[in-house]
Amino acid sequence: MKLTDSVSLVKNIGEKRLLSLNKQGVYTVKDLIEYYPRTYKDRSNITDINLIDDEEFYCIRGRITDKPDIIRKGVYTIVKAKIRDNTGYIEAVWFNRGYLKNTFKTGCEYIFMGKTSYYLNKLTMQNPEYEQVTEKELLSSGRIVPVYVLKDINQKIFRNIIKQVLDEITAEIEDFMPDEILHRHNLPSLDFAIKNIHFPQDGDSFYLARKRLVFDELFIMQSFLFRTKRMVQREKSTITINDYSYNEILEKLPFTLTEDQIKVIDEITEDLKKGNVLNRLIQGDVGSGKTVVALVLGYLLIKNGYQCSLMAPTDVLATQHYKSLNKILEDLGYKTVLLTGSLKASEKKQVYNDIKTGKANLIIGTHALIQKGVEYYNLGICITDEQHRFGVRQREKLIEKGNNPHVVVMTATPIPRTLALVLYADLDVSVIRSMPPGRQKIDTTFVDSTFYNKVYSFVNKEIQKGHQAYIICPLVEKNEKSQLKAVDDYTESLRQIFKGLNISGIYGKMKNEDKEKIMDNFAKGEIHILVSTTVIEVGINVPNATVMLIENAERFGLSQLHQLRGRVGRGQDKSYCILVSDTKSKTGKERLNVMLKTTDGFKISQEDLRLRGQGDFFGTRQHGLPDFKIANLYEDMDILKSIQDEVTDFFENKKDYPKLKEKIMEFGEKNKLLL
Ligand code: ADP
Ligand code: MG
Repeated sequence: MKLTDSVSLVKNIGEKRLLSLNKQGVYTVKDLIEYYPRTYKDRSNITDINLIDDEEFYCIRGRITDKPDIIRKGVYTIVKAKIRDNTGYIEAVWFNRGYLKNTFKTGCEYIFMGKTSYYLNKLTMQNPEYEQVTEKELLSSGRIVPVYVLKDINQKIFRNIIKQVLDEITAEIEDFMPDEILHRHNLPSLDFAIKNIHFPQDGDSFYLARKRLVFDELFIMQSFLFRTKRMVQREKSTITINDYSYNEILEKLPFTLTEDQIKVIDEITEDLKKGNVLNRLIQGDVGSGKTVVALVLGYLLIKNGYQCSLMAPTDVLATQHYKSLNKILEDLGYKTVLLTGSLKASEKKQVYNDIKTGKANLIIGTHALIQKGVEYYNLGICITDEQHRFGVRQREKLIEKGNNPHVVVMTATPIPRTLALVLYADLDVSVIRSMPPGRQKIDTTFVDSTFYNKVYSFVNKEIQKGHQAYIICPLVEKNEKSQLKAVDDYTESLRQIFKGLNISGIYGKMKNEDKEKIMDNFAKGEIHILVSTTVIEVGINVPNATVMLIENAERFGLSQLHQLRGRVGRGQDKSYCILVSDTKSKTGKERLNVMLKTTDGFKISQEDLRLRGQGDFFGTRQHGLPDFKIANLYEDMDILKSIQDEVTDFFENKKDYPKLKEKIMEFGEKNKLLL
């Protein structure tokens, strides 16, 4: 049997199983052996029957000495059998599995695995799984047993299929990883790894096998990204900048730039001066002042005759950017346009035209910027705000609109550093570490709903001082069955509680005009309390708001809570974040307590990743990460770290590893979205 053979050639895979496997992405024998177990059950400890003295899970090895009994009791059919080993016997019962009566062969040996419990005053094994002992290797008992994600195929049968295929592949599975790398990292051969990931001989073999396969996945991905980065870097830009001064725009700002902001602008202008195509990530925690950095960069290109696009994930945020940046550029004689999905046809036509003729210098918008009809006059730089909200593909679409424009992406997503290396390996990274001066620590508290009176009177006090508050709810509309707070309903009750205050609700699906109006009024200070879903999570900037009250806080991810909290503490005044939750879950409480302990976005995301696991953290493939078969970016960070130098060495020293190179290219083909 060859690795390239279709799985339909494998014994015991008929039409139905074939279809089911195809659905899981398994087409070839190679896919099949790379269909790794999701988890394992340790069934390696066999207990002597006379040592069973408790209600516990046990594996025993014994014979069925007499033909099983079958008893009918009401709706139940009960099969009863006596299992005997050298030390004693125990009774096993199965409910509603009448067919078992004829399954067991008396005198034959089996392994039974199940929980014991008292049944009619006797310790009895209930509904145990079983496997017959023959000369063949045991696959479902007496060892560490693999468990697969399967639909329509029984685990036991699937284990047999995998085993049979592993045995029938004639040659050893060929290794593509060079020996010297394997040696340096103490890794076993691929053949060993694949065999032991399915049927580990023992704990150590499993550990080694997994380490090897994780190493492969991460190494190949890192290499591919590294390669992409080098290709991009080598490219010289066709965009010419003659004038690098930008003091005139600084004079329009109500503040002076922080050292970090200047440092980042310097890093980037250095890059531009080298004539390279920019491909850079600006990372800075919420409130660190990324927008103005984007403005300065955009301005440099605009001043030199190019267009700049700034893409934001929501209408609200795009509009906010438009309002603050338009004023500044207008003063300097440049035109800014706003392009969102909500423009009327006639307005859209006008904006499209301004973009195409070059009348528009700064183009701010949402996804609308990458729509088909949009043609740019001469796009010099694409800036994406809140990059983590976009897929990599969207970034590319925007790039395609220009003639190899510079690319800058900004994110506040405090990704742990090692992860950033993976996610953004194709980008250079600039970090804004410090906050603008005058910021105070945001006081954060975590209370349950018995504290509402206190909380409300606190909110009221802040508003009497002339400040404003956000209240975040997880839902838009009240749902009969749910205990969760909903925006519309809650806005009404808050109006009763805070008589005389101006309270408005806002959520994503509202008409854009309405949303804009509300945001506008909130920014002007006319609305005291803004009740909202997480639409205001990203980017919104109203420095006069000092209270962030989050209802059902357990419903939000830590990084999301951090973003929400970042909406306050943006001005000179002391700000507060109040998390309300009645969660009983221990991890739930632990997570919320993380928010009290630190305001460092990096630490928070590290904890988030630890407590939620990778799947939740990344959501859908929004980061453009491939789906790993086995690697877990959180658990395997150490392996990831150990790979960095190896990958650099591989490229810097132009090592000649053709088989490895082929693997890397294969990966690139499969994951085009990463390019
Ligand atoms: P983010 O990095 O989260 O996008 P913003 O760009 O929205 O942050 O900036 C947050 C707030 O800080 C804004 O009100 C902005 O005007 C202000 N700000 C930015 N840079 C400075 C600075 N150097 N000094 C004072 N305030 C600043
Ligand atoms: Mg921002």
